[in-house]
Amino acid sequence: MRKYLLPVLLISSLCAAEPPPAPPTYVCQRAAAPLTIDGRGDESTWQQAMRLSPLRDIEGPAIADETVVRMLWDDEYLYVLADMKESHLWATLRERDSVIYHDPDFEVFIDADGDGRDYQEIEINALNTVWDLFLTAPYRTANQALHDWNIPGLKSAVHLRGTLNNPEDTDEGWSVEFAIPWSSITGHSAQPRRCSPPAAGTTLRMNFSRVNWRVQADATSPCGYSKLTAEDGSPLPESNHVWAPTGVINIHCPEFWGYVRLSERPAGSGFESMPVPAPDNAQRRLFAYYNAQLAHRAEHGHFSSTLNTSGVTPLFTSQQYFAATSTASDGTKLTLDSSSHLTITPPDEKRTPLYLWVQGGKHVGDTAWWQQHFAKLAEAGIYAVIIGGNTEQLAHLTPIAHAQGLQVYAWLWALNRPGDTTALQHPDWYAVNRHGLSCHAPEDRPFVEYYQFLCPNNAEALSHLLAQVDALAAIPGLTGIQLDYLRMPDVILPRGLWRKYGLDMSQELPEYDYCYCERCRNAFRRAYGRDVAEAADEDADWREFRLQSVAHVANALCERIRSHNLRAACAVFPTPQIASRLVRQDWQQFRLDLALPMLYHSFYNEPSEWATARAADAAEQTQQRIPLAPGIHLPDSTAESLPAELERLRNTSPAGIGLFCDDDITPAMLERLRQWQN
Ligand SMILES: [Zn+2]
Repeated sequence: MRKYLLPVLLISSLCAAEPPPAPPTYVCQRAAAPLTIDGRGDESTWQQAMRLSPLRDIEGPAIADETVVRMLWDDEYLYVLADMKESHLWATLRERDSVIYHDPDFEVFIDADGDGRDYQEIEINALNTVWDLFLTAPYRTANQALHDWNIPGLKSAVHLRGTLNNPEDTDEGWSVEFAIPWSSITGHSAQPRRCSPPAAGTTLRMNFSRVNWRVQADATSPCGYSKLTAEDGSPLPESNHVWAPTGVINIHCPEFWGYVRLSERPAGSGFESMPVPAPDNAQRRLFAYYNAQLAHRAEHGHFSSTLNTSGVTPLFTSQQYFAATSTASDGTKLTLDSSSHLTITPPDEKRTPLYLWVQGGKHVGDTAWWQQHFAKLAEAGIYAVIIGGNTEQLAHLTPIAHAQGLQVYAWLWALNRPGDTTALQHPDWYAVNRHGLSCHAPEDRPFVEYYQFLCPNNAEALSHLLAQVDALAAIPGLTGIQLDYLRMPDVILPRGLWRKYGLDMSQELPEYDYCYCERCRNAFRRAYGRDVAEAADEDADWREFRLQSVAHVANALCERIRSHNLRAACAVFPTPQIASRLVRQDWQQFRLDLALPMLYHSFYNEPSEWATARAADAAEQTQQRIPLAPGIHLPDSTAESLPAELERLRNTSPAGIGLFCDDDITPAMLERLRQWQN
């Protein structure tokens, strides 16, 4: 019954106590070759297509779900492939446009222009029976679903790994493949036939859902199974696993769906990510207001002129209202009227989200101090804070920052783990240099006492790091986790630091060259069939092996972060080429949602213009696959120099700009930031 409740009855399920977290995003790459729609997805271009982040419970929590969804596109179709593990395959519905979710199903939702109206839904069961329907608006607004609408040219196929409707055996699962013609997607948006095929760069709002029922073997049932029932005889509720949770058991809240951007790059040409579009938060505020008005009208018969949602300004006429808001981060203006018509007006000049690192270990427990601190940062136009500190400090500070409208990233040191009491109990977890000395022993550490690097090929050490991600991800309100020190010790220091350490590092020195532990040497031998060359610093394979080892750790951590529906960010050296040479960090291989290149020019004895040039290099070397937020080291700047530095970086069209760190930000700088953002 979940979809057929009258709007009035749905009101109670309109407003989740907690809005769901930021929506997932996905960059859909082009199919590199034609696809046969057979439900198998065994073409190599499907194997190379990126996975969407895992499905979650529709109300938000992470769940054990092994559905793997991938997408591709070409000029004719949008392709979807879903692979689902399932030990009991069953289906009963054979007639097109039956209510398919009464069987276990897989569902696709597409709102082509993202205005929360005029969207399509496709459901399919294991018999390849399709229900396609078109909704002029969500059910909450009015029941305007066109159930008998059929998508001309839709191709679908199902592949079963097991036997259908046979409770005697255990099945493996099923997969579904769709080719959805663009003419049906873009042709029925608010601007008909606007773009068929769409242009690369087009962004759609989408969601996916998998419905399952609890069943028992039942010889009297034609399909061999019957649904488990409650005491009153009604079936136990179905499970709803979705890509973008809506916070309530109602998927028809398009304002919470994920974002899918079409890329011109073919599958297999490298990981791509996109930021959550800047107006997303403002849009949610408007729909929260809209839902509250619907609830009020259901109870009192009319809209309320006194209803308050922070940041939303309503304007009333006798029958309807217009609610307006704008985004703090870039000045986009949005309006939503009582018929749920959403209008988004981009700003005249685009603002750039500012990411500020915050040292969370000070003023511990002093809520008032932090409230004031975050309020000042928000007022100066800071978009996100990257907060360092232990888990308790982060759990304390995250809601305080959030209440000031700041996005929050947890700052996690990855391969360098100073004072990690668990790691220190395992001497074999630590990286070893060419002389055989380990980062475990205080007297053997390179450069500084806090260089306590772990080996990138130690599975136990990696599990330990993944557990750190899990612990941070349990803090409510985070947008993402920012990884730091995802690299080896500096085999070559930035030139500006040579004098400080009394070193000439024009070539790789053995005492700063890691990881030569037994495990790494053995793994190299297995991979290349030989030992590391005597002249190790000239061994290109050995260099490549260690770049891959660090990238492997990075990607395991990024995938784990995304599995929590969080964004994976990383502070990296200036460009992938510089990072590979200096610290074995080939970060163009990292599957990041945001890279923050540390363009700290004084470390390199360079002027601030050098930073701008390296920001452009980084964008070119990563082929603009990864959103970049190039970082400024605030001690290198003054309040007077900052606006020009920001402006030069902004001209490289980054996704944001990083600032390190809050301890170095002066009141004069905050004032300059505020002026620059306005
Ligand atoms: Zn090692």
